[in-house]
Amino acid sequence: MSTTNEPSFRESVDLMFNRAVALLDLPPGLEEKIRVCNATYTVRFGVRLRGKIETFTGYRSVHSEHMEPVKGGIRFAMGVNQDEVEALAALMTYKCALVEAPFGGSKGGLRIDPRQYDEHELELITRRFAYELIKRDLIDPAQNVPAPDMGTGEREMAWIADQYARMNTSDINGKACVTGKPLNAGGIAGRVEATGRGVQYALREFFRDDLDLKKAGLTGTLEGKRVIVQGLGNVGYHAAKFLREEDGAQIIGIIEHDGALFDEKGLDVEAVHGWITKHGGVSGYPDARGHEDGAAVLESDCDILIPAALEGVINLENADRIKANLIIEAANGPVTAGADDILREKGVVIIPDMYANAGGVTVSYFEWVKNLSHIRFGRMQRRQEESRHQLVVDELERLSSDKGLGWQLSPGFKEKYLRGADELELVRSGLDDTMRISYQSMRKIWHEREDVTDLRTAAYIVAIEKVAASYRAKGL
Ligand code: NAD
Repeated sequence: MSTTNEPSFRESVDLMFNRAVALLDLPPGLEEKIRVCNATYTVRFGVRLRGKIETFTGYRSVHSEHMEPVKGGIRFAMGVNQDEVEALAALMTYKCALVEAPFGGSKGGLRIDPRQYDEHELELITRRFAYELIKRDLIDPAQNVPAPDMGTGEREMAWIADQYARMNTSDINGKACVTGKPLNAGGIAGRVEATGRGVQYALREFFRDDLDLKKAGLTGTLEGKRVIVQGLGNVGYHAAKFLREEDGAQIIGIIEHDGALFDEKGLDVEAVHGWITKHGGVSGYPDARGHEDGAAVLESDCDILIPAALEGVINLENADRIKANLIIEAANGPVTAGADDILREKGVVIIPDMYANAGGVTVSYFEWVKNLSHIRFGRMQRRQEESRHQLVVDELERLSSDKGLGWQLSPGFKEKYLRGADELELVRSGLDDTMRISYQSMRKIWHEREDVTDLRTAAYIVAIEKVAASYRAKGL
């Protein structure tokens, strides 16, 4: 975190918003309406643990209700506070607008260190927090739909869904009250990997365009690109894993809360992840050079830097020393407004958070739709698709033998072509489409408007215009 005089996270988001909105011509007053956070609810509740009552503080912030339900994760971390939750809720509004997920923006947080509690205690705390939010409609399939964020995952979402079901026994759409649930509790295939997968798809889209690559001083493909990842949690782990295994990138640095690992030849992401799961951090990992000062590794030379942990990690204090050509913000708000100015000046290209980590909310949207339609994606059409493909293959084979053409289908073609898409394939296809289309909407502005020199401003412009259009349609 920065020690210099830096604006808060929420002020930082507002500064970035202001820079973009100044380039737009909105009706008087609308700019302010879009910027402000509608409401933040603070709750303090007690849970009896280990023989005494412990009091917890939680928040649920609703930034914009231009579309409902509003959507945004619930974070469990000691750093949670009102300013942070409001900043994250605002980012959710812009993110949903940018990727056309039909939601307003919200976010929640509980000030807690989840590592200090066992599973049973965490369940009691999560259910009690959920109870407080559900009874005020701050968790509700039609009004406010949370999802996982730092410190929470499938397990917590399943507890929340069950708590809602207990309190709303006749709500047939109750499962849609929260996303990121396990598959057996109404979840969707591909949600756990979704945010990291979205980071991969975003980078692939960026690398498709030579002009964009040139702006970042890069050439070629993702193959062999040197990548540093901060935070090997849900988002960082999946992004690093897919980029390494499927695109041939080299993960040369991994930074965690207790230090960092570095290896120019590339780290074994799976092995490091296994070590962290077992030992709670990277310390002691035997097969790479360890560094106690994780933050210093953020400044190492690399092609792509992926901050995937906390906000404010690239700030006025260290921005000058960042050597990456390209930063993709897998975390929310990792680059402060001040650092953003410095990096832009240096010619570093930043793929902004509101786009880069939108894979999570995109697949959450698919999960919400699945819950409301009460049917798994692909269930109706998969076999029908297979039988139509079978027709084509049979016909090709018949032509080949009847006419004596001697055609041979390529090895593996039949298996691949005949298989109808299952839910996971459909989810990945929908996510890929979303990441490509939203990238192009930002890119168009980035390249076509002379007054826009960075992707973040472009992303804000796309998002603000969509939110504004939605207010206008309501007659506001
Ligand atoms: P997570 O809790 O699964 O992982 C966070 C990781 O960061 C953990 O491994 C933790 O040990 C590490 N970490 C904590 N402090 C650190 C520090 N000081 N330096 C380095 N590493 C540190 O959380 P997540 O769900 O992966 O979320 C990470 C970021 O991505 C957050 O900013 C979150 O808002 C954002 N995000 C998450 C999702 C999602 O679907 N989970 C979606 C969109 C955005």
